[in-house]
Amino acid sequence: MERRGSGGWESVLDGERALSPGAEWDSELHRTAVSQFDRAADLVELEPEIRTQLRQPRRALVVNFPVHRDDGELVTLTGYRVQHVLTMGPMKGGIRFGPAVSLGECAALAIWMTFKCALLGLPFGGAKGGVRLDPNRLSRDEMERVMRRYASEIFSLIGPDRDIPAPDMATGEREMAWFMDTYSQQVGHPVPEIVTGKPVVLGGTKGRDSATGLGAVFCIEEILRGKGEPIEGKRVVIQGIGKVGGVVAHELAERGARIVGISDVSAGLHNRDGLDLELVSEWVSEHRFLRGCPAGEATERDTILEIPCDILVPAALERQITADNARELDCSIIFEAANGPTTPEADRILEQRGIDVIPDVLVNSGGVTVSYYEWVQDQQKYSWTREDVVQRLRRQMAEALGRVVEGRERYESDWRTAAQAVAIQRVAETARLRTVYP
Ligand code: NAD
Repeated sequence: MERRGSGGWESVLDGERALSPGAEWDSELHRTAVSQFDRAADLVELEPEIRTQLRQPRRALVVNFPVHRDDGELVTLTGYRVQHVLTMGPMKGGIRFGPAVSLGECAALAIWMTFKCALLGLPFGGAKGGVRLDPNRLSRDEMERVMRRYASEIFSLIGPDRDIPAPDMATGEREMAWFMDTYSQQVGHPVPEIVTGKPVVLGGTKGRDSATGLGAVFCIEEILRGKGEPIEGKRVVIQGIGKVGGVVAHELAERGARIVGISDVSAGLHNRDGLDLELVSEWVSEHRFLRGCPAGEATERDTILEIPCDILVPAALERQITADNARELDCSIIFEAANGPTTPEADRILEQRGIDVIPDVLVNSGGVTVSYYEWVQDQQKYSWTREDVVQRLRRQMAEALGRVVEGRERYESDWRTAAQAVAIQRVAETARLRTVYP
């Protein structure tokens, strides 16, 4: 080969029939991740060899497996586990259940996990996994059979020092308990450190259940403090009130913010004077979904993003803020609690409109940070107090924010590109030091 890195393929592959590098992962979300990465890589003048390596994951496992439904029907499901970077330590990333889960989606999410871990200074490379299914159509027993079978299907790739999964969309403590038990049954002894986000009694950490939302709130607090603005009285809209968005809503309301709009998969809810979150919680615990909740005026699920507010928090899905709605948003600042909620085209429109977007790799990094604390405690066989966890999280997120603020000044860039530039430099340094084997 004459050139290394992005070039040189012509000499080893038939130019006519060869797929371009990374074609396996091609999807809207992977293109978004790569486009963000390229922008930051340009800024730090990343060498082409490392750039090519980081644009796509190092490995992936695709599994098709049978599961019995409650009525005895046998269905075949597809699952994935994707590992992005192997040089930073074991791999770390959540498992999601959703109808759009795909190889390309997991690849993008694994890339963001790498940058999140690097930005926070955690000793992990990024990974992501999931199973393509509609979680709202599965019973509890079906969920258990899927999670246990998926865990044993990806057994060859994971391990407490190799790849440690965690919860993500539609999975939580309960699923992590099944995952931990399945792995432990296979090796013949309890291995709590195989997964994070477990119930505390099984070796989970205090504070993990609220860590992602709380971390997002710490980030909001710090950034507003930097602007000299109080949280009190701020109008907030939150898309998605699951494990992350629910905590953000309650924590911000406790600090005096007014939650004027929320949504879930079923509906949107709007109340200019601030929603009564107790009423919302009671309704959701009884009816599972928001639809019909009397705490506010019902709105279309997707127009929730356009309700006038000071702070907008997407906390549901990827690709929610796009070129189609970015001009309609009526907020001053966006905190991305979800992964990948803003497309690159929307980023450019928001930049022109002067709306700051505080990126996912920073805002939702509290989850993986406390997952790291859980993994450390499992290895030490020693548990920390909730205060200890929360204090460390606050400090670690403030330090990461400080690095991003410095990065913004150094590179004169937007928040996302600065955060990724800081992260990329750390990952690139490990790649340079470890060089290439053999
Ligand atoms: P969750 O499944 O607990 O909640 C998701 C919420 O989004 C639910 O309220 C669901 O009804 C809602 N939703 C789904 N589709 C929607 C739509 N089209 N419009 C509006 N709402 C919709 O998931 P979660 O763990 O809270 O994750 C939310 C986001 O945060 C995801 O992007 C996830 O990757 C990210 N994240 C989660 C964690 C974590 O620790 N759980 C950590 C980092 C990032």
